[in-house]
Amino acid sequence: MKNTSKLAETDLCVMCGMCLPMCPTYQLYQVETESPRGRIALMQAIDQQLINADAKALLHIDHCLGCLNCETICPSLVPYGKLIDEFRDQFNPSINKPWLSKLILKQAVKPDGLNALASITNRPALKQLIKLGSTFTGLPENPLANDPSHLKDFYRGAYSEQGQRRGEISLFTGCIGKSSDYSTIKDTAFLLNQLGFDVNIPKQQSCCGAMHQHSGQLETAQTLLNRNQVQLKQFSSDIILFFSPACGASLIQRKNVNVMDVRTFILNELQNQPLAFSKPAQAIALHESCSHRNMLKLKTLNIDLLKCIPDIQIMQSSNPSLCCGAGGLQSINYPQQAHALLEKKLNSFELTQTNILISDNIGCSLHIKSAITRYNPNIEVMHPVSYLVRQLTQKTQEQQTGDNPNALPEPC
Ligand code: SF4
Ligand code: SF4
Repeated sequence: MKNTSKLAETDLCVMCGMCLPMCPTYQLYQVETESPRGRIALMQAIDQQLINADAKALLHIDHCLGCLNCETICPSLVPYGKLIDEFRDQFNPSINKPWLSKLILKQAVKPDGLNALASITNRPALKQLIKLGSTFTGLPENPLANDPSHLKDFYRGAYSEQGQRRGEISLFTGCIGKSSDYSTIKDTAFLLNQLGFDVNIPKQQSCCGAMHQHSGQLETAQTLLNRNQVQLKQFSSDIILFFSPACGASLIQRKNVNVMDVRTFILNELQNQPLAFSKPAQAIALHESCSHRNMLKLKTLNIDLLKCIPDIQIMQSSNPSLCCGAGGLQSINYPQQAHALLEKKLNSFELTQTNILISDNIGCSLHIKSAITRYNPNIEVMHPVSYLVRQLTQKTQEQQTGDNPNALPEPC
C-alpha cells in the first residue's frame, strides 16, 4: 500500500551513512540519534507509530540545524530539509521553546514587528532580561539592539558623478537584517548609488517566513510568503535584491518575482563598470553560511566579489562546511549546542592573523560576534558588501591625499 504520509519520503533513505561525517550535530555528539540517518529513522518510527513521540526522541530530531550538509552528499536525494520542516510542523506543539524564540517568531509576523522589539529591548530592564536569557547562548547582550530609525526609504544614485543613471532597484532587507544590521543595508545602498542606481527600501515588506518555515510553522511561513509575493510585485523597481541567503532561498521559490542576491548583482555591475578599491593592509577571514552554500548554492560568489579588491588575501576555515551553530533560532533554542559548534568553527580559522572576518549572513554574524573577541579582541565581523565599501572609501581618501589620483580601477 502506498505510504501517503507527509513523511513518506523518509523511505528514500537507504541508510548508507554517507551523510554522517557531514553533519555538525553528529560531529559534536557522536551518536547515531544526532545524525541525519538517525533522525530519519526516528521520524519514520514516530510516523509509523512504532515508538512514541516522547521528549527525548523529539529533542534529538529538533537539534537539527537545517544546514542541509546531508542533502549535498546523499546519493538517494532524500529531501531532508523538506522532511524536517514537515516533521516540526506536525510535532511543534510538543517541543518546548524559550520565550525569546517564541517572541521573535510572533513579532516577525507583524510588519516592522522586530523593529518594535528592538526599540523595546533597548530599555535597561529588558536589556538585563535578554542578557539573562542569553547567558549560555553566546548571543550578544541584546541581539536586536540597534535603532533602525536611521534608515531612509530612498537613496539617490550618484549618477551625476558617474555620468549615467543605470536604473532603480529595491532592497528586501529581511526582518532581522532591518532591525539589527542596518549598517550593511546603508553600505549596500551607498555602493549601489556609486554604481548609478537609485535604491528603494519599501516600507511594506515583511518577514520572508524562513524562520517560521524552519520552526514548525509552515502555515505562517506560507502566509508570509504569499504576503511578500503581493508586496514584491508592487515594488516599482526593475529588480529586487535580497541580503540574507536564508531569505533568498525562501523568496526565489516564487518564480514570477524578479529577485536576486545582492552580491550577485553587485559583482555583475562591477565586472561591467569597475570601481577603484584600496589594497587591504592584511589578509581577511571568510565565513560562508550554510544557506549560502547549500540552499542558494552560490559556490564561489563571495570570493569572486571580494576579488574585485586588488591583492586581497582570503583565509578560509579549515572546516568550511561546518555550521557555526546559529541555525536560524537554534542559538536561542539550544544555546549550549550552538556555543560548542561556534567554538569548533572559530578554532578552524587563524583568527590571530587578521582583524576582519567576513560573514554573508546576519544570523551567523550575530552568533559569531558573541564569542569571536576571545580569539582576537580587535577583530570586526562584517558583510562582504560593507568590506567593499570600506575599501572604496579608503581609496577615495587616498586619491584625495594625492596617492596616484588618476589610477584606473582594476577589473574584477
Ligand atoms: S540538516 Fe545539518 S544538522 Fe540537520 S541532519 Fe542534516 S547535516 Fe545534520
Ligand atoms: S546519505 Fe542519504 S541515503 Fe545515506 S543515510 Fe544519509 S540520508 Fe540516508
